[in-house]
Amino acid sequence: MKAILKFKGPVLIGGKKAANNFIESIDYIPGSYIRAALAQYIYLNCHINNKNEKLFWVEYKNQEECEKCSLQNMCINFNNIKFSFFYPKGTKVASLSQMICKNNSSHGFFETLLGQYSCNICPQGNNRIEKYTGYIFEGRPYKKLEKKIITRTAVDNYTRVSKIHNLYTLVAIEKTCDEGNIFEGYIYGIKKEDIEGINIMIGKYTSSGYGWANISIIEENESKYDKHEYINKIIEFSNKYKQINKITDNNIYLAIKFNADILFDIKLQNKYYSTDEYKNMFSEAINLPDIFNIEKLYTEVYDYRGFDTSSNGNPTRKPFKKIASKGTLMVLSSQKTIEEIYNNLVANDALGQETENGYGKYEVYFGGVNSD
Ligand SMILES: [Zn+2]
Ligand SMILES: [Zn+2]
Repeated sequence: MKAILKFKGPVLIGGKKAANNFIESIDYIPGSYIRAALAQYIYLNCHINNKNEKLFWVEYKNQEECEKCSLQNMCINFNNIKFSFFYPKGTKVASLSQMICKNNSSHGFFETLLGQYSCNICPQGNNRIEKYTGYIFEGRPYKKLEKKIITRTAVDNYTRVSKIHNLYTLVAIEKTCDEGNIFEGYIYGIKKEDIEGINIMIGKYTSSGYGWANISIIEENESKYDKHEYINKIIEFSNKYKQINKITDNNIYLAIKFNADILFDIKLQNKYYSTDEYKNMFSEAINLPDIFNIEKLYTEVYDYRGFDTSSNGNPTRKPFKKIASKGTLMVLSSQKTIEEIYNNLVANDALGQETENGYGKYEVYFGGVNSD
């Protein structure tokens, strides 16, 4: 079901730490943040808390008090709840294969996958296009996000003056749309009435009032194509792709677009990898079904190191992983039948690790074929 997070003020999510004294929020909320916020909510409202336990670790206690607890269902089912990433209201993640006009970004998107390499709206009809990373809002690049820059200082408790070198800057998200600071995403494995109306605290600096959000639910699932329609569209894309790229084999070609970051482990050795070797390692690392070959890969990969906040005391750092950014697009080929391809794609809608927190979520991409 679809969930709406309405923030009462600014929110600061994770972040790119550009320098020691500068923290800027990312513009989306990985499901892991929502899970942590809900765990905290349950923990703080539990009647039989044992303060010696792991912080924010949800475990159903099955005691008398629990029978009367309004959070009972959420508590029992906590580990089965799935969260998607949450995004600014009304936006969709753009594919990294899509580009925009260098001259005028309101000329819309151009799909390089299917051979659009210049803007055909510009009067000359040949204006250059450039890379775009971000969201699509009503068919155009998304520009409604507003950030707030806050400079703070840490005060020395003893001298009551600001500590030297302790000036720091926070860049938080203040507004995502005309109606306010609203994010939307999906939550599964819990009933509407068990979660609706709850107020949670998401992200950093929640003790200063950041990240306070109210959850509301819309009984609406992600729109999906029916099988017949889906298969027709895959074949239509495949034919068009093969024609444009002058491919004459009998394989089926299709594209998948990742609507969330992909989390994976890859052990790179200090040696040169050919493109094919790299593609093979990547396929294995994200558990791509082996009926598929990666033909093209549009992605940005970076190192990621999360925090383990479930232990009592100071959060400890988790080992390094890799993230391929949301918007990653893969063109896949397969020698199998369309039926087998369909079954392999539908059996799963996410790849890589931590899919229960929305990582690795993908959809079959028909960009350039239909108006999406
Ligand atoms: Zn309880
Ligand atoms: Zn143009």
